[in-house]
Amino acid sequence: SDTVERHEFGAEVGRLLDLVVHALYSDREIFLRELVANAADAVDRRRFEALTGASPALPEGAGVRIIPDKDARTLTISDPGIGMAKADLAENLGTIARSGTRAFTQSLAEAKPGDRPSLIGQFGVGFYSAFMVAERVEVTSRRAGSEEAWLWASEGRGDYTLAPATRAEPGTDIVLHIKADADEFLEPFRLQAIIRKWADHITIPIIVVRDGKDEPANEGTALWRKPKSEISEESYTEFYRHLGHMFDEPWATLHWHAEGALDFTALLFIPGMKPFQVVEGERESRVRLHVRRMFITDEASLLPPWLRFVQGVVDTEDLPLNVSREMLQATPVLARIRRAVTGRVMTELKNRAKDAEAYARFWENFGPILKEGIWEDAEHRKDIAGLLRFRSSAVEGWTSLADYLSRMKEGQEAIYVLAGDSAEALARSPQIEGFRARGVEVLLLSDQIDAFWPERLGSFEEKPIRSITQGSVDLSKVVAGEGEQGEAADIAKLVPLLKDALKEHVSEVRGTDRLVDSAVVLAAPEHGPDLHMQRLLQRAGR
Ligand code: ADP
Ligand code: MG
Repeated sequence: SDTVERHEFGAEVGRLLDLVVHALYSDREIFLRELVANAADAVDRRRFEALTGASPALPEGAGVRIIPDKDARTLTISDPGIGMAKADLAENLGTIARSGTRAFTQSLAEAKPGDRPSLIGQFGVGFYSAFMVAERVEVTSRRAGSEEAWLWASEGRGDYTLAPATRAEPGTDIVLHIKADADEFLEPFRLQAIIRKWADHITIPIIVVRDGKDEPANEGTALWRKPKSEISEESYTEFYRHLGHMFDEPWATLHWHAEGALDFTALLFIPGMKPFQVVEGERESRVRLHVRRMFITDEASLLPPWLRFVQGVVDTEDLPLNVSREMLQATPVLARIRRAVTGRVMTELKNRAKDAEAYARFWENFGPILKEGIWEDAEHRKDIAGLLRFRSSAVEGWTSLADYLSRMKEGQEAIYVLAGDSAEALARSPQIEGFRARGVEVLLLSDQIDAFWPERLGSFEEKPIRSITQGSVDLSKVVAGEGEQGEAADIAKLVPLLKDALKEHVSEVRGTDRLVDSAVVLAAPEHGPDLHMQRLLQRAGR
C-alpha cells in the first residue's frame, strides 16, 4: 500500500548483519536470549514509568510470551512492555547506536570461538541476531501512553519498511519467519531448554505456548535473595553469565546481606575476562538497583567509574517501591549504599591480592581501569595505591609498591618510574642505564593512563614517586654495590658547545650520572609533563 515507507539501513547495519549471521552460526540459539532480554527490559521500563504515572499500569502477572507456530513457520515473542513509537523503531532497529561495526568486527576476529556469542550482547546488536534464524522479521509495536501502533519489517538485507498497524494494548510483538534450516526453533521443548539455560534468572514470567497452553519456562527467582548455603557454584556462574552476557567463570563472587543502619543484599561479580563495553564503552557502573526484588534501574552508579568492571545486583529495603528518578538523585540512602559497596569490593581486592598468581589475572584485565581511581578519587587514592602492580627493571613478573620499597638501596630517596608504550622497550631504554648500573630499580609503566596518575599520587609511604625522564635525578647519594660505580667523564668543555649547537631545540644541556653505555639521553624539565606525557600530548594534536 502507499502508506508503507521504505528506509535504507545505516551503512553499518548491513555489514553487521552479515557478520552476525555468518560468524555466529553455531551459536544461533542465543537469538532467543537476546529477544527475551529485550522484552523483559521493556516490561521493566514500563513498570518503572507506571510508578510515576507516565505509563499505564502493567496488567497483573504480565510476562513475555513465546509462541511457535509450525504451520505458519513463525515464532512470535510478545511482551506488554514499554513499546516503541515510530521514531523509536527507526532509531533502535535501523541504526547501531552504541558502538561501531569496526570495533565489533575486530573483537570478533580476536575472540576465541567460545567467546563470540557474548560479543553480540556486549555490542548492543542483540536484536539483529534474529536474522540468524529468520528470513524475515516483523515487529509490531505500540508505545505505552500512545494509541498508535507501527509495523517494522525487514529481510535483513539493505532496507526495512515502516507502516501503520494496530495493536490492542501497549507492547511489542516480534514475529520471526523461520529459515528452512532452523526448524528446531519451532519446537516448544527446544525453546524451553534455551530459556532455562539463558534466561532462568529473569524475574518476570516467561511463557512458552505448547499445544495451545501457556507453560512457564523460567524459574524467575531472585537468586541473590536465597541464602548462600542454598546456592551452588553453577547457579552463581549461570547468573553471572546471564547478567553480563559473559561466557567465562567469574574471577570473584561477592554475596552478602547488610543489616542495621542500611538494609540491602548485594550479589557482585568481578569478571574473569575483559568485557568489551567496560573497556571501550561508557564509564558509568551498570550494577543493577532493585527495591524489594523489583528492578528499578541500572543507571544508579552504585560503584565509582574505576570499579565499572564489577557486575551484579544490589537489592535494598531502604527505598520505597515507587521511587522516582528524581528521588534516586536526591536520596542519601544511595550514597550510603555506594560507600558500603565500594568498601566491600576494595576489601575483597585487598584480600585476593595476597594470592599473587590469581591477582595477576585480575590485574591484567582491569589494572588500567583501577588506576583511573588514583587520578580521580582522592578518598580511595591511597587504598588503590596498595593494589597497584608493575613491571620492573629489577624483577620478573608483577611487583607492588610495597615490594619496591623493601628493595630500595640505602640512600635512595625516591620511587623511580619510566612511562612509555611497552614494558619490553622500556627495559632496554638508555634512560635506565645509570639506574641499573647502581642497582636502583625502575618501575616500567606502559598503560596509557600511566602518563597521568603518578603525579596525582605523588608518593607512597612518604617516598616521592619520580619519573626518571624529568629533570636531573640525583643518584649520587645511592650507595653503589661493588663494580657498580661508573667513571665520571670530564664533560665541562662539551656542555657549552652542545648548548650552542642545539639552542633552538632544547632548553638545557647538562652532565648526568644516569648513563653508562649511551652518550646522551633526552630529559624533560623538572616541572611539567615528563617525556612520555609530552609524546602523548603531541599525538593528541597539541
Ligand atoms: P540493546 O538491548 O543492547 O540496547 P538490542 O539490539 O538488543 O540492543 O536492542 C536495541 C534497542 O531496541 C533496545 O535498546 C530497545 O530500545 C529497543 N527494543 C528492542 N526490543 C524491544 C522491545 N521488545 N520492546 C521495546 N523496545 C525494544
Ligand atoms: Mg538487547
